[in-house]
Amino acid sequence: YTQDGKRIVTLIPGDGIGPEISKSVVDIFEAEGVPIVWESVNVTPVLKDGKTTIPEDALDSVNKNKVALKGPLATPIGKGHVSMNLTLRRTFDLFANVRPCKSIIGYKTPFDNVDTVLIRENTEGEYSGIEHSVVPGVVQSIKLITEEASRRVATYAFEYARAIGRGTVLVVHKANIQKLSDGLFLSVAKDVSQDYPDIKIEEALLDRVCLQIVQDPTQFNHVVMVMPNLYGDILSDLGAGLIGGLGLTPSGNIGQKASIFESVHGTAPDIAGKDLANPTALLLSAVMMLRHMKMDHHADSIQNAVLKTIAEGKARTGDLGGKATNTQFTQAVISHLAKH
Ligand code: NAD
Repeated sequence: YTQDGKRIVTLIPGDGIGPEISKSVVDIFEAEGVPIVWESVNVTPVLKDGKTTIPEDALDSVNKNKVALKGPLATPIGKGHVSMNLTLRRTFDLFANVRPCKSIIGYKTPFDNVDTVLIRENTEGEYSGIEHSVVPGVVQSIKLITEEASRRVATYAFEYARAIGRGTVLVVHKANIQKLSDGLFLSVAKDVSQDYPDIKIEEALLDRVCLQIVQDPTQFNHVVMVMPNLYGDILSDLGAGLIGGLGLTPSGNIGQKASIFESVHGTAPDIAGKDLANPTALLLSAVMMLRHMKMDHHADSIQNAVLKTIAEGKARTGDLGGKATNTQFTQAVISHLAKH
């Protein structure tokens, strides 16, 4: 906190369109009068002892502030570079990835009223990185599931369901095939559910959920889904597709030490620097961040203003078929804030 009681939050503007859409968020937060102060840091990777790491000051800032908003980062192509997103996830032990997908009125897709919430285990499973060749032509890749990681992501799912007023946690799995690994994930979730008598637990096979969600996604509007890493990776992009792609979807990476909120899309190099980007995904990520910090009142005001601007249709950006610049869109959002 600052001396006048404002919360300090780390801002990682990112690459490509990152600085433009970050500026939009900063301007809208200022107009709304959100009591936070941004601490802007750069996370361009540095090589330390042959390993890609995050610059010290960025590390210190996130560790100190515990909450960060992050624009997209360009993943350097070539050997020796681990994706910075993966590095951030590992460094801050961001164990749960929260991905809501909500239809945006005014952006027509094959489905209306989609409102899914998916929580992906973010640290192990198929992404444990343990792979080896047994003999030439035979490789093993180890899917690691631990009780500890399953318990913390399941606990988070129940807490999240309670916080957003959903009465059911749906565990998505393949325990019929992956009997031990998904079996452990499922049994731990059932154990955790004992502590949440007000929330129901249901379970469903991943393949069945894939079928049902593209037939009628609204049947998942009352649950919070939770699942192992790979399933969550795939199913969350499927969910984004249902509401019109990655350009509008926010996400939160929740950890014990810190939480980082980010748009799901990349750096959009084709439109970077031209004031053409749509800041909606980063704005909605910032709204999730405000709810995480229990600033729901400001979250509601900004979310409503963004949705109203898109629905009204006068200031849509190019990706939504409009002609507005990022700056014009941002001004329209500001004019729709509750206090204006
Ligand atoms: P991308 O998401 O950057 O772009 C895909 C298409 O969507 C482009 O045509 C782009 O113009 C458009 N688009 C994306 N965001 C938009 C926005 N906010 N407004 C308007 N249009 C938007 O995907 P890509 O081209 O595959 O990746 C580019 C770079 O971003 C790569 O270096 C990749 O590694 C990186 N990336 C980073 C993240 C992250 O940091 N979380 C995620 C994905 C990709």
